[in-house]
Amino acid sequence: MTSPTAHLRGVHRQAPPVGLRCADGHVTSDPALWRCPDCEAPWELAAAPEFDPRAIDSTTWSLWRYAAMLPAVPPVTLGEGGTPLVPVAVPEGEFLAKLEFLAPTGSYKDRGTAVVVSHLRAVGVEEAVEDSSGNAGASLAAYAVAAGIRARVFVPAHAGAGKKRQIAEMGAEVVEVVGGRGAAAAVCRRETRVAAYASHCWNPLFLSGQSTCAWEIWEQLGGAGPDAVVCPVGQGNLFLGLARGFAALRRAGLVAAVPRMFAVQSMACAPVAKAWRAGWPRPVAVDEGVTIAEGILTSRPVRGDELLRVLRHTGGAAVVVADEEVRAAQRHLRGAGLSVEPTSAVAVAALPLLRDQIAGAQVVVPLTGSGLKTL
Ligand SMILES: [Zn+2]
Repeated sequence: MTSPTAHLRGVHRQAPPVGLRCADGHVTSDPALWRCPDCEAPWELAAAPEFDPRAIDSTTWSLWRYAAMLPAVPPVTLGEGGTPLVPVAVPEGEFLAKLEFLAPTGSYKDRGTAVVVSHLRAVGVEEAVEDSSGNAGASLAAYAVAAGIRARVFVPAHAGAGKKRQIAEMGAEVVEVVGGRGAAAAVCRRETRVAAYASHCWNPLFLSGQSTCAWEIWEQLGGAGPDAVVCPVGQGNLFLGLARGFAALRRAGLVAAVPRMFAVQSMACAPVAKAWRAGWPRPVAVDEGVTIAEGILTSRPVRGDELLRVLRHTGGAAVVVADEEVRAAQRHLRGAGLSVEPTSAVAVAALPLLRDQIAGAQVVVPLTGSGLKTL
């Protein structure tokens, strides 16, 4: 029997592991521990660099222009980041779409995956596992093969055929698990005894990668933040990455406040919206339900308490939308020349519901996944 971390001690280690700390103050730098073994809480970076506009590498046209603000690792990069910010007309006025679906594997996940996989390669990991409804798996498959890391991805058997094909095509092993996202995650975690868990839900480096989206928006708006951000939320990785990114800009004195953050969930699975309406400090688990927005079917988000804190502290809200509204939003985006998958249309579907709250505001909506994924 190999020890839990034996295979992580690769001979080609390029950088020391990143220091991690949980909310209760436990610390580690063992990349094999995907959550705190003492209190089961997610890890955070023990020491994250602060945002410094003078440290932006303006010669680099990817998220690595912010390398000085990310944990120090040699990048594994496919050119992720640097996505356009374009105006889109809607009956409520106009919003700015951040075209995250133009990432190398067609979803916003590539920002986070790039930073996670860069770290795994730097510390000598040879095999990584992940559970995913599709996009995170496809993203891991691409970055793992680029990094020379073997990848196994655990997906619910009902996940879209195109997404499963995309994962397998990049050389990763697809393991289909009967049951929902929760079942795939449970089976995947058993494998973390022998392989590193490249989890987009648990690994704090994933959020570091997502924060670069906020920094780009700030640069694209000429050194300003928008008034509001409307974002689909399952685990809420992009939502939290954006909130953390804007918070870093505020600490640096570059924006006056974090934009009002609005979370949008599917009516079929809305633990955050339910807790928000009830005034609870954290979501309680709900059934996964059935929806065309399969990318945000998350019954209990890992950082649910932080999601609710961000809503409260920024003057945001959580709302839910039905599949018919999502389909209508997807059609509207197609009419504007933008093809996105249903999960990505969720935030646009919420704009009519938020009409009063965002009237006259400059609103950014990240469009997270490509419509090519579900053709
Ligand atoms: Zn702990």
